Amino acid sequence: MGSKAWQAVLDNLDEAAELAKLDPDVHRMLRTPRRVLEVSVPVRMDDGSVEVFTGWRVHHDTTRGPAKGGIRFHPDLDVDEVKALAAMMTFKTAVVDLPFGGGKGGVRCDPRRMSLGELERLTRRFTYEISPILGPEEDIPAPDVNTDGRVMAWLMDTLSMVQGRLLPGSVTGKPLSIGGTRNHSGATSAGCLDCARVALRELGIPMAGSRAVVQGFGKVGGPLAYLLASAGMRVVAVADIGGAVHNEGGLDIQALSEHVAETGTVAGFGGGDDIDGDAIWDIECELLVPAALGGVITEEVAERIAAKLVVEAANGPTTTEAQGVLDRRGVVVVPDILANAGGVTASYFEWAQAQQAYPWDDGVVAERLRQRMERAFTAVWARAETLGVDMRTAAYVVAVERVADAIAARGLFP
Ligand code: NAD
Repeated sequence: MGSKAWQAVLDNLDEAAELAKLDPDVHRMLRTPRRVLEVSVPVRMDDGSVEVFTGWRVHHDTTRGPAKGGIRFHPDLDVDEVKALAAMMTFKTAVVDLPFGGGKGGVRCDPRRMSLGELERLTRRFTYEISPILGPEEDIPAPDVNTDGRVMAWLMDTLSMVQGRLLPGSVTGKPLSIGGTRNHSGATSAGCLDCARVALRELGIPMAGSRAVVQGFGKVGGPLAYLLASAGMRVVAVADIGGAVHNEGGLDIQALSEHVAETGTVAGFGGGDDIDGDAIWDIECELLVPAALGGVITEEVAERIAAKLVVEAANGPTTTEAQGVLDRRGVVVVPDILANAGGVTASYFEWAQAQQAYPWDDGVVAERLRQRMERAFTAVWARAETLGVDMRTAAYVVAVERVADAIAARGLFP
């Protein structure tokens, strides 16, 4: 599983390296993560036994700044997947031009089968084990799959206790009460909206009245469906793990959210017709947003997609082969490392506020986020046009060049 994800990142890097005429030494350096720390995490379980979990923290590249990336708790996690996600963070932070490198970490565990106490002890012991490479100037974790603000608060508290001083800049995605960002995941959705807005404008498609289909109605897909509808789009279909609903006139997203809050799924919503989750790919629309899992847009799905634009809210939703099919069919894809970079950009703002010990107004955060996303989009769009390549390749070229420039400027130690 993880080895496929790592290979996909290497493929993207290799292609970008060729187009950017990257120095072969720098290319080789970027094909290897800077640090891979594997730790054993013994945890006293509620029944008195001790279970030993395995965790990792990877720094892929830290030339442009401290490592930045989430902490994931998942039963299938392996070191190659963490390496892949860390490398994607190097390129994501570079595309939006944040002064960060790329990192990622996690523990192979199933948090759904653990009590709150077990989860806290796991988080604190894991944090302690990786603490030698953490810190506001070294590596700043954030929430990822199955981790949230509560886990980040435990992480920050543990690191602060270990070092004997409060370290609010050591994590992002914290609760508001300790310097977190209002609506951290909402920033990812807001960034996707910005990308969709500018891309539709470039394609000459008016947003108002155009149709959108969204897969995933969670922390990112839910708010994004709402934002798209508020921007005047007709959100004609939404899918989640329980099924999908369709309404050609546009779904009432507020009512759909209430239905999901009650039932846990979009299926059975009275304001539309239930359809098969797989049927969303065939729906004619202007915008398609995968906001659920990786690997969902396969070659077969890519042949069926009836959208003009795909904005990748999810990480890695399109396989390499499927990207080729979409290119051939003229479907424009705004790639994950650009489209969902709103979350890490909000994390950067949260870190900057912690380092300054000076909170910004919400309006300032929103405006700076919009500016950064639009600037990044414009740079990638222009590069895609000049090179005559798809936006994913162009995004990797822009990112790889920025990292390579930083490596060249700093020189090789010793
Ligand atoms: P989430 O767990 O809150 O929501 C996931 C959604 O996907 C749920 O609605 C779930 O029902 C749906 N889903 C799961 N399996 C499905 C399936 N087989 N078919 C259809 N729908 C399915 O997760 P999230 O935080 O919204 O993240 C979604 C994606 O966005 C992930 O790929 C994540 O890596 C990426 N992402 C999230 C953030 C963030 O800020 N949360 C930032 C960057 C990228």
